Amino acid sequence: MSRVAIVGGGIGGLTAALLLSRQGQQVVIYERAGRVGGRVAFEEEGPYRVDQGPTIVLLPEMLNGILEEGGLPPDSLELLRCDPLCRIHFRSGRVLTKVAGLAEQAAEIDREFPGEGSGFLRFMGDMARLFPQGKASFLEQPFNRRREFFSPANLVLMSRLRAYRSLRSAVSSYFRSEELRDAFSLQSLYIGGAPFRTPGIYTMLPYAESAFGIWMLKGGYGQLPQILSRELLSRGVEIHTGTEVEGLTVEDGRCTGLTAGGVKHSYDAVLYNGEFPQLEALLPAQLFSGNAAADSAVQRSSGARGRIKRGRYQPSSGCVLIYAGTDRRWPESETHQFFLPDSLNDNLRELFDQGRISQLPSYYVFNPAAIDDTAAPPGQSVLYFLIPVPADPDMDWEAIAGPLAERVLEDAEQRGFPGLKASLRWKKIRTPADAHKDGLYGGGSFGIAPVLSQLGVFRPQPRPYPIKGLYAAGASVHPGGGVPIVMQGARMAVHELMKEMKQ
Ligand SMILES: Cc1cc2nc3c(=O)[nH]c(=O)nc-3n(C[C@H](O)[C@H](O)[C@H](O)COP(=O)(O)OP(=O)(O)OC[C@H]3O[C@@H](n4cnc5c(N)ncnc54)[C@H](O)[C@@H]3O)c2cc1C
Repeated sequence: MSRVAIVGGGIGGLTAALLLSRQGQQVVIYERAGRVGGRVAFEEEGPYRVDQGPTIVLLPEMLNGILEEGGLPPDSLELLRCDPLCRIHFRSGRVLTKVAGLAEQAAEIDREFPGEGSGFLRFMGDMARLFPQGKASFLEQPFNRRREFFSPANLVLMSRLRAYRSLRSAVSSYFRSEELRDAFSLQSLYIGGAPFRTPGIYTMLPYAESAFGIWMLKGGYGQLPQILSRELLSRGVEIHTGTEVEGLTVEDGRCTGLTAGGVKHSYDAVLYNGEFPQLEALLPAQLFSGNAAADSAVQRSSGARGRIKRGRYQPSSGCVLIYAGTDRRWPESETHQFFLPDSLNDNLRELFDQGRISQLPSYYVFNPAAIDDTAAPPGQSVLYFLIPVPADPDMDWEAIAGPLAERVLEDAEQRGFPGLKASLRWKKIRTPADAHKDGLYGGGSFGIAPVLSQLGVFRPQPRPYPIKGLYAAGASVHPGGGVPIVMQGARMAVHELMKEMKQ
């Protein structure tokens, strides 16, 4: 049995602990916050409780499969299928309802956008062939060497998945309408990327949404860490909350433990689940290039083959979030809705290219009571508004966020939630400055950005450095952000770790 320390009790850390403990390893989690879950949390006030971070459950089979592999009893999560999946409100007054079923969706598209349903069927047909290969090649295996990523088979697949184009440009070959192009590329915002900058490989996202549905966890996504930590504690996994890891020990090219609360602890391996760019600061400085000490001396003392190049990372976009409790419900409204401005493309160019917030930006609304009667007290609702904004924690959010929230609430009242403002009983706003305070890299909500230079082999890997016994999982590590994908990354990291332990 090996002793493994996990730094961070986010979804990646908890999933890794689940998989490792299932395989009989002794696991200890160190979490600096007072609770586990990281971004997966609740905001609560009086009778109201709403998710703080993730709300949209995609790829439920991936999520359930990993939990099953970790030995979590099958009925531990109650996933609710959203049908309609979601609703997208365009400024023109048109509304696209995403529905389950290919023929039904094509008919729905034709109803609002005559003649465009066939483009949707063509998109789904092409992606049905590519998705299984894309998932196996880009979501289920690490890239320890460049040549694994640039293999002839992968190069062909990347070209078919249009990795060389943007997601928006890739979907444009299926739809003539700008609004439909938005509707099938805005999913990059789920991971903090601009549709016009995120590589076309991410067509897997809108495909997965229409093919496997959009779901929500009954009671909220915030339940997931609670369910996982209950299971871990029942297995004897130690979880130390309120305990920051201050450094990792590396001796002879191997990570042999960590320091927390000024005390050194020894482990056979360490899995890091914090924001990846912050890992460097926990490692001995002489491992990295750019220091005065001679390379040869470093190599002798660390056992590493050479100095590690310091990473330079671009954060994902940030969010202004409005959490609200109201004294009424909107049963005719869907659980997941998007409200788009005149031109989503212009709006997002302002955000991603110029770092500015439009007067009236795009936003997403989560209305869980539409499908989960227990989401709020009888007759009342909790709502969650997510507005993509620049990640910059140094903008004057105190001055920006209040008026921005007012404009968004006013707009939502007119376009989908009549009587909203008068019904508000509780309201809380969260900005990139809060995200930054909580340790999210650069104030971005989703880890490092999903741009070509930070994808696949260019993203930090589950075995990030040539240091034995050191592994990483989380939103900024391959294969990337989003709860099921992070869990998939944790699974990869655990497989790599177990392989090394068996050598
Ligand atoms: C507003 C928002 C909306 C989102 N919406 C969705 C959605 O709808 N669907 C979806 O699937 N995903 C969504 N996501 C993304 C999803 O939440 C993340 O990808 C995922 O939760 C990240 O998990 P992680 O493992 O990287 O851990 P994190 O959440 O980053 O947690 C890492 C933990 O490590 C701890 N830590 C860091 N350093 C140390 C240290 N030195 N010592 C001890 N502890 C440390 C931190 O305190 C933290 O608890 C959303 C995220 C946000 C913020």
